[in-house]
Amino acid sequence: MANKILIVEDEVNIARFVELELIHEGNEVDKAYDGREGLDKALSSDYDLILLDVMLPKLNGLEVLRRIRMEKETPVIMLTARDAVMDKVSGLDAGADDYITKPFAIEELLARIRVALKKKSGVTQATHKLTIKEVTLDEDRHEVIVRGENVELTNREFELLHMLMVNKNIVLQREKLMNEVCGYDYMGETNIIDVYVRYLRTKIDDKFGIKLIQTVRGVGYVIKDD
Ligand code: CA
Repeated sequence: MANKILIVEDEVNIARFVELELIHEGNEVDKAYDGREGLDKALSSDYDLILLDVMLPKLNGLEVLRRIRMEKETPVIMLTARDAVMDKVSGLDAGADDYITKPFAIEELLARIRVALKKKSGVTQATHKLTIKEVTLDEDRHEVIVRGENVELTNREFELLHMLMVNKNIVLQREKLMNEVCGYDYMGETNIIDVYVRYLRTKIDDKFGIKLIQTVRGVGYVIKDD
């Protein structure tokens, strides 16, 4: 099904150019040339995505975004002037999903649009839950539940558990886990993963009497679902 996209941009040539590209990609496109018109359209019609320029006549893009967010969750990509760091920060604070600086390559804009649309469709799908041995990890709510009880984990503990559960029955090497959990630029101790595994075992295995994370000597860790 075609996605309905609203372009709010006072520079007519940019609006027209982006419109043609989006139509070419199979989308339905609507346009508004000032903030007031953009806000009216955004509120009166259901779009799958809104491209919103920051510098607009009548009502600026940030104000338009703020008012849209009072009523709607429509994904919004802001178009900001080059180096307008404040606009980016304010835009994200005000609830923009992404931003792109002008002048932009159309391929980059189209790629960002695809990501934003995919994220949106993900929200309406079933929730993403993984369950192994009475341990349920809810990706959307960022929660871990064991026998109805919420287990408080730090971000890194959660990421580690998530990696192991997504890759169930596959032995993951410490280095791989470290890169995923701590980032590729992590320069700290290599036994950091052992430390997080210990924390997880204290919070889950020991507390609930479950044997969840198994050590594979000399290699790494695995969670098996048998
Ligand atoms: Ca403008």
